Amino acid sequence: MRTIAFGYSTRCNLRCGHCVAKGEIPETSTMDLGRAREIIHEMAEAGVKGISFTAGEPLIFFNEINELVRLCRDLGIYTRIVTNSFWAATREKADQVVTALQKSGLCQLRLSYSRWHQEGVAPRNVVNAATSCQKQGVDYFVSFVTDFSEQDDPHEAFLRANNLRFFPEPLIYSGRAAGFDHGGIRTDFQANRCPMNPLLTPELDMYACCDAGSHFTDTNVFFLGNLAESHVDELFKASETNRLFHLIRTAGITPLAQFAGFTSRQIIRYRKCDLCKEMLNDPATLARLRQAADGHVNHWTR
Ligand code: SF4
Ligand code: SF4
Repeated sequence: MRTIAFGYSTRCNLRCGHCVAKGEIPETSTMDLGRAREIIHEMAEAGVKGISFTAGEPLIFFNEINELVRLCRDLGIYTRIVTNSFWAATREKADQVVTALQKSGLCQLRLSYSRWHQEGVAPRNVVNAATSCQKQGVDYFVSFVTDFSEQDDPHEAFLRANNLRFFPEPLIYSGRAAGFDHGGIRTDFQANRCPMNPLLTPELDMYACCDAGSHFTDTNVFFLGNLAESHVDELFKASETNRLFHLIRTAGITPLAQFAGFTSRQIIRYRKCDLCKEMLNDPATLARLRQAADGHVNHWTR
């Protein structure tokens, strides 16, 4: 099913220390609203079934995003908004926003929560936003961004104490978090498959990966094209028919790393996106993997 992370604007009211979306780019950019409408129509024609409004903080542009959500509803597209809940300082304000979004047909709110977000937004806001969702019948979950350190224990306890539905979201060491101490990890020997949800930026650049992948600037491996020059359908197809990406989705990053010569002992010390970057942001390794993806690397699976 075709889904996409829709970056209407990179503007945000916060400046979280771990933010992936705004790594090296200091200035913000915003999509033209009329063009956003056109793109959503094109996406519907191209069979896109789900749009997640993300990038900076989408609800800074409440009227615009609310309108785009309505448009998606009319076109039969599932919608999600990823938000830091800055707008939910009181129960009343939270109710106002969630009620309006519910009327426009919003399907889900994804509430970001972390020790970095909560330096700028009171934890109570997230509880207010979740409570309004429960009242209005809007599906929600809390995306608990964590580096799995002890520092996050009180935050997790807060989410539990408030009976919020939350899921841990491993911190991505990219963008502003690139310089964080990655710490030592030792995982099981996992396949590290990746669904590869595409990303659309306000500049209309489309990437095959909505997470760390837009930061692979040495090879730009995940860049699919720009909607000023290409149709949405064409760019989705470019991702869907790419043999290497297909392997990332089906076999996972780990078999590719093994094939590229990483030892098993190295592989279990990498986080998924770090391992991906080590291979795919290196021009020589990427060239080898691209060539192999058309042939024998396909057999490098159990
Ligand atoms: S709220 Fe999200 S987009 Fe805004 S600075 Fe924090 S992580 Fe980045
Ligand atoms: S593993 Fe690679 S493709 Fe998957 S989210 Fe990380 S950077 Fe993107």
